[in-house]
Amino acid sequence: MDPLLADAARRASNYLAGLPDRAVAPEPEAVLALQSLREPLPELPQPPHAVLQRLDRLGSPATTSMAGGRFFGFVIGGALPVALAANWLSTAWDQNAATYAASPGVAVLEDVALGWLLDLLDLPRGAAGAFVTGATQANLCGLAAARHAVLARAGWDVEADGLFGAPPITVVLGAEAHPTLFKALGVLGLGRNRVIRVETDGQGRMRADRLPALSGPTLVCLQAGNVNTGAFDPCTELCERAHRAGAWVHVDGAFGLWARAVPSLAHWGAGIELADSWATDAHKWLNVPYDSGLAFVRDGDALRAAMAVTAAYLPPSGAQRAPSDTTPELSRRARGVDVWAALSALGRSGVAELIERCCRHARRFARGLADAGYPVLNEVVLNQVLVSFGDATTTRRVIEALQTEGTCWAGVTEWQGRTAMRISVSSWATTDADVELSLAAMLRVAAACGAAPDSCPM
Ligand SMILES: *Cc1c(COP(=O)(O)O)cnc(C)c1O
Repeated sequence: MDPLLADAARRASNYLAGLPDRAVAPEPEAVLALQSLREPLPELPQPPHAVLQRLDRLGSPATTSMAGGRFFGFVIGGALPVALAANWLSTAWDQNAATYAASPGVAVLEDVALGWLLDLLDLPRGAAGAFVTGATQANLCGLAAARHAVLARAGWDVEADGLFGAPPITVVLGAEAHPTLFKALGVLGLGRNRVIRVETDGQGRMRADRLPALSGPTLVCLQAGNVNTGAFDPCTELCERAHRAGAWVHVDGAFGLWARAVPSLAHWGAGIELADSWATDAHKWLNVPYDSGLAFVRDGDALRAAMAVTAAYLPPSGAQRAPSDTTPELSRRARGVDVWAALSALGRSGVAELIERCCRHARRFARGLADAGYPVLNEVVLNQVLVSFGDATTTRRVIEALQTEGTCWAGVTEWQGRTAMRISVSSWATTDADVELSLAAMLRVAAACGAAPDSCPM
């Protein structure tokens, strides 16, 4: 295997080293060349080195430079070198992370990483945790635990008996809840539309004064880090009111939860620890490779009731944590190893510095755009910046031209009736120089598209 793995490592290094000098979006010719992959299944074996060579030749140029420092689309982190390296090593181990008995090494590494995360994010130290694919799945885990708990209190065993005939559950969320929450609710049989949407304010925060009176089995979903503005729901007040009514509170903190690891930002996430379950991503702000999300549940028994497999062939877990009792999957990769490596290498101060640095870059973007007369639509409290280049058509034209120009990449979003470009700074790889180059490109492209700056900049 050695020459093949060495070849893969060399190709990966070359790819990463070339990112600063290539367009962030793939060139159209590279995308066109992918057509040659659309061929019948080979009848005969091919030499592995030839397969890798072809993958690199066709695949690498057709990627988007998400691992580089100038990708600002969606909310997408890069991959810290140590996390990528640990990912490679653990992939070579090829461990099935389902049980302690099958892989004690991975189980212990993941235990340690979960403990560190509860400490770093300042969540209840006894909470149960789950390594899942992303925040979508983490939302599903939190809401499944919630569904179990609120129905158990009403005398109903939802895992055994399903939802037919069960007492109804009231689901409350903010009007700006992330679309993946609705998906999780749909999968869990709670309904995408059968929800109470609470009005939000100008930054997308749930208005605590609009929370309806709650009674019966109820689930309240809060948000830490609005995907457009980065804003946080007022968690202290909402948790206290929800808990007085006996409701379960779930927090979608896909990226915002990480503010709790930063002394200068932690006030935004105040009160989050009062909730009952939390979802976050490691592949966003912790900058581990895809895919990696995390669910935490205060009442671990509720999560285990929702997720445990009890098939007789599985070894008893005894005193050990049984990883698959907390996840939708049985077999899965050892994604906690990458998390352990990232946390080991960064330490508490390194995580805080990474998050703070991204926020500083975001503020620089906001200042540069506003100074040039392009209105920034949100309060830049975290790493998200919304900017308008005029009417919807002009804004869309600027974004498209920017993506084609290639210096950087940012996407389009709709924010409270306005079309905007969203800049998300989530990667360890973004440097001051990347920000200045990207800002200059944005202003250059906007001017070329005829986007007129406001006469009175905000
Ligand atoms: C990104 C995001 C999600 C979905 O996370 P995935 O990792 O893509 O599954 C959910 N909620 C919020 C607020 C997000 O930003």
